[in-house]
Amino acid sequence: MSRVILGKDIGQWMKDFPQLQQLMKTEPITWINDRKSNHEPIHLTIEEAEQRLRRFAPFLASVFPDTQANQGLIESPIQRVVLAEQEIEKRFGKNPGNLWLKCDHQLPISGSIKARGGIYEVLAHAEKLAFQHGMLRESDDYSILADESFRSFFSSHKIAVGSTGNLGLSIGVMGAALGFQVTVHMSADAKQWKKDLLRTRGVEVIEYTSDYSKAVEEGRKQAEADPTTHFVDDENSTTLFVGYATAAKRLAGQLAEQGIEVSAERPLHVYLPCGVGGGPGGVTYGLKQEFGEHVQCFFVEPTHSPCMVLGMMTGYHDRVSVQDFGIDNQTIADGLAVGRASGFVGKLMEPLISGIMTAEDSMLYKLQALLMDTEKIQLEPSAVAGLAGLIQLQKDHAVQHAKAATHLVWATGGSMVPEEQMQQDYQTGKRLWEMENIK
Ligand SMILES: *Cc1c(COP(=O)(O)O)cnc(C)c1O
Repeated sequence: MSRVILGKDIGQWMKDFPQLQQLMKTEPITWINDRKSNHEPIHLTIEEAEQRLRRFAPFLASVFPDTQANQGLIESPIQRVVLAEQEIEKRFGKNPGNLWLKCDHQLPISGSIKARGGIYEVLAHAEKLAFQHGMLRESDDYSILADESFRSFFSSHKIAVGSTGNLGLSIGVMGAALGFQVTVHMSADAKQWKKDLLRTRGVEVIEYTSDYSKAVEEGRKQAEADPTTHFVDDENSTTLFVGYATAAKRLAGQLAEQGIEVSAERPLHVYLPCGVGGGPGGVTYGLKQEFGEHVQCFFVEPTHSPCMVLGMMTGYHDRVSVQDFGIDNQTIADGLAVGRASGFVGKLMEPLISGIMTAEDSMLYKLQALLMDTEKIQLEPSAVAGLAGLIQLQKDHAVQHAKAATHLVWATGGSMVPEEQMQQDYQTGKRLWEMENIK
């Protein structure tokens, strides 16, 4: 192959970064970050975001009944998964021990981790507009936002976003509930049911035959031409990012409630599915503020969409895409089908994350079925990537403190997937297990 990328031929790239060879062959890998330090490149205030979400809680509780159990806060529980752990030991020969699931598939409103960042950014934008027009003060009871006067005010404003599905779902559902005109630019891989659901809420869905980066680029371009449009920029938004980061302090509370200590003796290892990077990056950023060196965060990507590990390994971040290296960005993990990582998140994560693993689609299907059979937990394929990453890491490296560590797999989505789709994926996973038994 005589490929030249950023003026350097492919042979030289592979010499400089030996793991590129496996990456280009779409083999599962574990990349360990050796540039880690505890230095924080920029400082974002997460507390402000948490307070804003608290102000909106009465409004959310009144408009979305599924948030009432948590007084209008969009939060998910953590769950110990002993049966899954035993099955993993049986199938893969190693028991991770102390395995927990962060159940973001149960998040109210949109059923995925995107309910954290996406909804937060819509709320922050709505608040800013309402403040500017003297319609709202911080001290008000925000349930007034459900009034017709606000809906009519927001209806003259537009929000747009580019998405592989779940972000569009979160922004669309929340934006429409407030009264905004919302346009979602969907990449080709976005599932039909997500587009259908949005259209029933009055959201405009524009479909592309190309991938995520193109949908974002087109959305950004159209929004820039119209000053009444707020574009939710998945690749660059710090608002979205801090929305995700609010998960950390709440998680610290949940761990404390369960009597789980996070310390040098009992470190916390967190496994996060990664697409463009904002979700896992925001959570990691928050967790590092909470626990410092006592938490280790790992990202997990599909073997066919390893954009973050490519950017981190080479240090070129958003200047390189997986397609540059002949990787096709075709995966069933639709939330993770991203060919070029966020440069902003990549640079911010450089000193913070412990490593990145990649996982094959077949593994995602199998683990989806395994979680269903052992724990009756229904996740979408992308949402089990964290678990695949943990298994890959244990295969490639004997994890230090393995016995004492708490392993938290971030389950990022699934509760809104239609039953028929869920059944199809589950059956695929079951078939893959059977084929393995035959071998
Ligand atoms: C979007 C998404 C992620 C990853 O978030 P990014 O911000 O794109 O990195 C993980 N899981 C699911 C289910 C998602 O939809």
